[in-house]
Amino acid sequence: MIYFDNAATTKPFNAVLETYNDVSLSLFGNASSPHLFAIKGERRLNEARKHILKMLNLDSTHELIFVSGATEGNNLAIKGSAHHYHNRGNHIISDLGEHSSVLNPLKSLQKEGFNVTYLGLDKDGKVSLSEIENALTKDTILMSFLSINNEVGSVNNIKEIASLKKKFPKCLLHVDCTQSIGKEDLDLRDIDMITFSSHKFGGLKGSGALIYKKHLIFDPLLDGGLQEFGYRPGTINLASNIAMEKALEISLSSLRENREHVKEISKFIRDSITNSSEIEVNSPNDASPYILNFSFTHKKASIVLEALSEHEIYVSSHSACDDKKSFGSLTLQAMGKNQEIAENAIRLSFSKENTLEEARIFTDTLKKILKEIMNR
Ligand code: PMP
Repeated sequence: MIYFDNAATTKPFNAVLETYNDVSLSLFGNASSPHLFAIKGERRLNEARKHILKMLNLDSTHELIFVSGATEGNNLAIKGSAHHYHNRGNHIISDLGEHSSVLNPLKSLQKEGFNVTYLGLDKDGKVSLSEIENALTKDTILMSFLSINNEVGSVNNIKEIASLKKKFPKCLLHVDCTQSIGKEDLDLRDIDMITFSSHKFGGLKGSGALIYKKHLIFDPLLDGGLQEFGYRPGTINLASNIAMEKALEISLSSLRENREHVKEISKFIRDSITNSSEIEVNSPNDASPYILNFSFTHKKASIVLEALSEHEIYVSSHSACDDKKSFGSLTLQAMGKNQEIAENAIRLSFSKENTLEEARIFTDTLKKILKEIMNR
């Protein structure tokens, strides 16, 4: 099979599975219990916490809490900070290309009375700095933007977005880094809240992190015990969290080579489809090489996706978290694409496991499928 759906999830690394097994067996105690066996688990957890922060260059400025993934992290960052800092103001800024785990918490906050401004995207899928600047007011307490868009791979300039906060010191910046952690060389030091899931870079489903500047306080989403500084009650998922540390270590150790490798694959496919009259490439030229999105101008993406599936080539037509019956990609609509393009997109997403040979098979098979559909 050819798996080009790595933005939805990646195959876990073998070393990650080994780590999970080792920790599950050797430190199975409840890390919050009072005995020495549990304390050993808690120590190991805190080592992983520090090590992840260190690997991301955030050990002197930020704290980390382990969560079940980006969905929970985004909810906690957005709702938890908006609730806690509501006395500072009522205004939030985000954009229409965000993942549903950001858009839907924002909708909930609107129902509670928060005023949310949703910016559009430019033709390259990015939020415009001047639009953010114009939207910021003394009442703005939070901004939430993607590091890398999960549908088209557009890369926001988060350093420059963070610099806009200088004039608005009470406004916090949350960045959903789910598609960039372990894949891009990031400088995250100016960001107040950072979220991601481990299964997007070779870790396991059900583990992720919310990293936040040391002084910040959240209102927890759940009531329960005092685990994770009281922000995330419930028994600690020690083995998955240690496995996430391992996945990040492996990903960062070969980040540049992996990026160059997927760039070759992405470029090969992009070059082979760019001149087709039936295809419009939606990912901008400077997109992350890990994501390549294009639409069919005269064909249904769902039919092509099904035909590719029959050849055991697995790609996506939208984010796995979006409503399957939705009327087209919100990101593509926010980029100003017409409805036909927004409804007929295919997303390829790569990992270091993919090969150039797979890219060749993909382009040959796609050509064959498009010809077959035309002759029907
Ligand atoms: N944010 C982005 C940008 C994503 O791509 C995803 C996964 N599709 C999520 C958040 C949610 O991640 P999870 O399902 O692991 O909670």
